[in-house]
Amino acid sequence: MTDDEQLPLREQIVEVSQAMGRRGLNSGTSGNVSARLSDGLLVTPSGVTPDRLTPESIVRLDAQGRASAGALKPSSEWRMHAGLYARRHDMNAVVHCHSRHATILACAGRPIPAFHYMVAVGGRSVIPLAPYRTFGTVELAQAVAEALDGGFACLMANHGQIVGASTLAKALAIAEEVEEQAAVYWGALAIGGPNILDDAQMAAVFAQFKGYGQGG
Ligand SMILES: [Zn+2]
Repeated sequence: MTDDEQLPLREQIVEVSQAMGRRGLNSGTSGNVSARLSDGLLVTPSGVTPDRLTPESIVRLDAQGRASAGALKPSSEWRMHAGLYARRHDMNAVVHCHSRHATILACAGRPIPAFHYMVAVGGRSVIPLAPYRTFGTVELAQAVAEALDGGFACLMANHGQIVGASTLAKALAIAEEVEEQAAVYWGALAIGGPNILDDAQMAAVFAQFKGYGQGG
């Protein structure tokens, strides 16, 4: 892919990063966003707040995780992104953030059960919790990839949440919904705990989603 062809993706990564800030999914420099390239990936740089990102600041990594000459340092979490692209051919975009309510649940060791039908946005009847591993490590990348098996979203113990999807827009929308579900679940726990939907009820939700919208 030539640099010209990467430009729209670079612009979208900046837009998604800034939208995460505006929508309260992130504070400071904690979130990161990436998109798949045919021969590597584009990922947000380390330590740059979303308002200061430019398309040129987005870091291109090759298939071995090497940055282009002169590039900024990639996000410390780049291995999580690269690991997902290697394992999940249905994912072309990954969004990771420390959104408040998802992180509260992740710190309390609580995955999100089927307490609301929109939990299905993560692709399963539960938004699972990946075990704690040190940030930036291959071990965390592995734990996240395993927790995402068969779905699109998971919480990360004592850390945050991560979403992979076919497009950047979908990944952002799912991350936003995961945060909303986390906030509502947290609220329901505070007043005695939610009623949980059973397997048949969730199967009906997935069937309904298949016929919903414009076939997608
Ligand atoms: Zn993080």
